[in-house]
Amino acid sequence: MRNAIIPLFIPHDGCPYRCTFCNQWRITGTQTGVTPAQVAETIAAYRRSTTRPYRWEVAFYGGSFTALAPARMRALLAPATAAWQAGEIDSIRISTRPDAITEEIAAELYTAGVRTVELGVQSMDDTVLRLAKRGHTATDVERAVPILRAHEMAVGVQLLPGLMGETRRTLARTVRRAAALQPDFARIYPVLVMADTELAADYLRGRYQPLSMQTAVCIAAWWRSYLQARGIAVIRMGLQATAALDAGDGLLAGPYHPAFGELVISRLYGQQLRHALRRTTGAVTVVLSPRDASKVYGLGGRQRRELGALCPDGVTWRIDTAQPQGRLRLYDAGGVREIIAERAVKRGD
Ligand code: SF4
Repeated sequence: MRNAIIPLFIPHDGCPYRCTFCNQWRITGTQTGVTPAQVAETIAAYRRSTTRPYRWEVAFYGGSFTALAPARMRALLAPATAAWQAGEIDSIRISTRPDAITEEIAAELYTAGVRTVELGVQSMDDTVLRLAKRGHTATDVERAVPILRAHEMAVGVQLLPGLMGETRRTLARTVRRAAALQPDFARIYPVLVMADTELAADYLRGRYQPLSMQTAVCIAAWWRSYLQARGIAVIRMGLQATAALDAGDGLLAGPYHPAFGELVISRLYGQQLRHALRRTTGAVTVVLSPRDASKVYGLGGRQRRELGALCPDGVTWRIDTAQPQGRLRLYDAGGVREIIAERAVKRGD
């Protein structure tokens, strides 16, 4: 049975601070948070919208769920919990801040049917966190994750490369410390400069420069490889495309691309293939799944041409529907070898 999310937005609700980079009203396209009645209505509307069976998950996004006033948190959870107890949905997911997790809150969430918690980690470097006005430290993350795991909830971490004060060293520290916590999954969102944020003011005054697209893709590829090699699924890279973002509405600068994740995976395929093709002899054939073609070939087929130029006797690209996605077979005079360009890690989402 397939999973399906029922998204509910609470933009900035519960946030004790306004982080310099964040404008959830723009990102979620919603100005006001849901009411308990809307939670119940939305669950019913999603379930009515299809006759196909799904594993439904209600997900509260866009704010600091466990930093809401306790009465509002419980009021929002109540209709979702009722649907969970009635077997109408399978679980509940929330996103929140690392410093808003305690043993008591984790126990309450679990009892209410919450099975996944996404933590806005952003960075694991305290200087970067301070400059972003997050109001918590990396140690808060290291304290929150084990609490949630002890209460048998899947934990996701949201990481934001490219914040003010970021260096190669802070990037390395973030991915290393985040991986050491063994979260179930991660999302990588390179920082975008959104209108009506403190970061936008810094950018307009020349005090902040966002990552270029190329650098953002490199960092995301590095972090994805690092995390996936340690069994941590990276379930999203780059913000979900919306009509507003695609139109540049509210987006001042930064590495936004509607298919950012595909750019990253394309880069990873390119690295692996370059490495392999330099060691081939004679004519080469690469067999790939049709689902991998656009990632292997790159935008406009540029990567395919660059890779082909590495082999004097040429490369034949053969699409084969029987070839598993994420695996390429490479034939040359020396025989056949398999390249695993994508690790099959899928947890927590
Ligand atoms: S990053 Fe999270 S805590 Fe900070 S303002 Fe945005 S939603 Fe609130």
